[in-house]
Amino acid sequence: MEIFKTAAELQKFALDAKRSGKIIGLVPTMGYLHAGHASLIDIARKKADIVIVSIFVNPTQFGPTEDLDKYPRDFEHDLELCTQHGADVIYAPAPDAMYEADASTWVEEVKLSKVLCGVSRPIHFRGVTTVVAKLFNLTLPDIAVFGEKDAQQLLVIKRMVRDLNFPVEIIAAPLVRQNDGLALSSRNRYLSETEKSNALVLSQSLYAARGAIESHGLEGVDLIIEAMKEKITAAGGRVDYVEALDTANLEPPTAETKEVLLALAVFFGTTRLIDNQIIQVK
Ligand code: AMP
Repeated sequence: MEIFKTAAELQKFALDAKRSGKIIGLVPTMGYLHAGHASLIDIARKKADIVIVSIFVNPTQFGPTEDLDKYPRDFEHDLELCTQHGADVIYAPAPDAMYEADASTWVEEVKLSKVLCGVSRPIHFRGVTTVVAKLFNLTLPDIAVFGEKDAQQLLVIKRMVRDLNFPVEIIAAPLVRQNDGLALSSRNRYLSETEKSNALVLSQSLYAARGAIESHGLEGVDLIIEAMKEKITAAGGRVDYVEALDTANLEPPTAETKEVLLALAVFFGTTRLIDNQIIQVK
């Protein structure tokens, strides 16, 4: 296992690997790794000769009142998980190794990133696309794996790759949950035991809605969403959004819609959780 702390070291390693014909797989993360991240590393391991895991709490994707400073970190644990899952390289830069003090260039997707999480987190996806574009230039990956946990992020990244012709195949990894249904997230660490059990309403209401949409189509989707919001509020959640949008364009579904993203963001206490279901429409 190699650990790189600077962009120059990483890029040199990637260039050498590329020139010797290796297939490079990238798994971008913010660390505090769990089984969801591990599943991404496993997928990359199957498809690539060299698996690079980046661990970087990216300041540019956090708003001024968000949890950048208290975001959980545990490098020793992350190192162990990456070793167990056969990663070859960890890239763990300090923020000033990633951004010049006078950096003035952004990569911005301006459509898919404006809805759902983009409404309450207006600079979030600009930070994500910028850091992912930088990581692509530093690691020269053939493939990069992203989780369906962040379904909107995945769509935004795919759009960026398409629009800017990055020679990278984006691979979607299924959302990993606890046995009780709670979507794994580094932010679950902020939840009290009561909040954790209250938050089970998220997966439960998503599953119920999925069943209803699969059997009855999208006719009653507005009512389904209202019922979800009521159930979530009754369980102590504060709804940021619950929405069903066409995965092709993140617009409201039409008669042509083949697949919807039913997505939600909900606060339990001060912790904002996201979860979703991707549903085929008959
Ligand atoms: P993060 O460290 O939260 O920025 O996540 C890094 C990557 O891991 C992103 O592509 C996430 O979508 C993915 N990820 C996080 N949690 C999960 C999960 N529960 N299941 C699948 N992928 C996940």
